[in-house]
Amino acid sequence: MSAPQAQVQRSDFDQLMVPNYSPAAFIPVRGQGSRVWDQSGRELVDFAGGIAVNSLGHCHPALVGALTEQANKIWHVSNVFTNEPALRLAQKLIGATFAERVFFANSGAEANEAALKLARRYAHDVYGPEKFEIISMVNSFHGRTLFTVNVGGQAKYSDGFGPKVQGITHIPFNDLDALKAAISDKTCAVILEPVQGESGVLPADKAYLEGVRKLCDDNGALLIFDEVQSGFGRTGHLYAYQHYGVTPDILSSAKSLGGGFPIGAMLTTAKIAEHLVVGTHGTTYGGNPLACAVSGAAFDVINTPEVLEGVRAKHERFKARLEKIGQEYGIFTQVRGLGLLIGAVLSDAWKGKAKDVFNAAEKEGVMVLQAGPDVVRFAPSLVIADADIDEGLDRLERAVAKLTRG
Ligand SMILES: *Cc1c(COP(=O)(O)O)cnc(C)c1O
Repeated sequence: MSAPQAQVQRSDFDQLMVPNYSPAAFIPVRGQGSRVWDQSGRELVDFAGGIAVNSLGHCHPALVGALTEQANKIWHVSNVFTNEPALRLAQKLIGATFAERVFFANSGAEANEAALKLARRYAHDVYGPEKFEIISMVNSFHGRTLFTVNVGGQAKYSDGFGPKVQGITHIPFNDLDALKAAISDKTCAVILEPVQGESGVLPADKAYLEGVRKLCDDNGALLIFDEVQSGFGRTGHLYAYQHYGVTPDILSSAKSLGGGFPIGAMLTTAKIAEHLVVGTHGTTYGGNPLACAVSGAAFDVINTPEVLEGVRAKHERFKARLEKIGQEYGIFTQVRGLGLLIGAVLSDAWKGKAKDVFNAAEKEGVMVLQAGPDVVRFAPSLVIADADIDEGLDRLERAVAKLTRG
């Protein structure tokens, strides 16, 4: 029997935790599918999905089964040894994508860190030490390590932490002329999110990505797609690059990849992977058997025509209703995104007030997300029931009605 647990509440956060977050007033304690219950027993519809993470909702039986089965076998061995769940997951990812080699990490930032280090090492080995420049996008988000905040295009995350990582240029997203002007034979990599997530759910144009691919090839630069948010079924394709038909050289994956269990992965080709030889990079927990077992089980459910087509159909269901709410209450001007990564853009009158919508929604019993101050973001379970979508959007409409009518 376990020891009795201490009583804790939201106000304890401020006494116990580093104040880098400002969590909501309630504490979720239990979830099932796309419903969550808080400490007081109040039930909410979950359109947040742990920020695009809980790809199969809460406590999906396939994931609970995989986790408990693995929990009774072996938890951790380190990379001094390999393990069966990691090899099986690598096999699945390689079988379903352009990739020929996989590196496992524990988060999106770590997957990107590996991708960026690999790109620099590859260029160093193949072309020489002058080819180290990285081009990334204004408003992009790639994680919170020092390297990834510097590569990311948001000064609020990178300023005030001492000297910057050198050799990084930021250019506007979806602007091929800007890339044409910036790229050179010193560029080792171009990194972008096929759908910019954190900064407002902004999908790239297909012609743009095709042009980026060509400019990278012409300049001997690797193309890195950060699919931490857009990947693993989120857009209605296993990866968004498959939707666009533009293949990167390196791809990072995390968030949905673990369905709620921490894992990240970097996918690449054999020829590029060759340059991370023994000892050049590593991680203690990366490739952990529990994480890989859960992710492998999530893969088996998600990488099916039924689930991926379902994601595209549920997009339409969300979009139609959100557009209707947007028009009726004058709150949204545009609903954009791919699959179940959706952004509702606030109208001029509501600009900067995504947090107010978040708060009003929570009061009516629906969890949503922000993507910056001007966009309300939805990233629910990829298998959310239509009835849950409808109920959650009913609640959201009630919240918007109260908000807009004062
Ligand atoms: C969330 C996110 C990351 C960072 O992932 P962590 O697991 O928080 O390190 C990186 N890139 C994109 C596009 C993301 O959405």
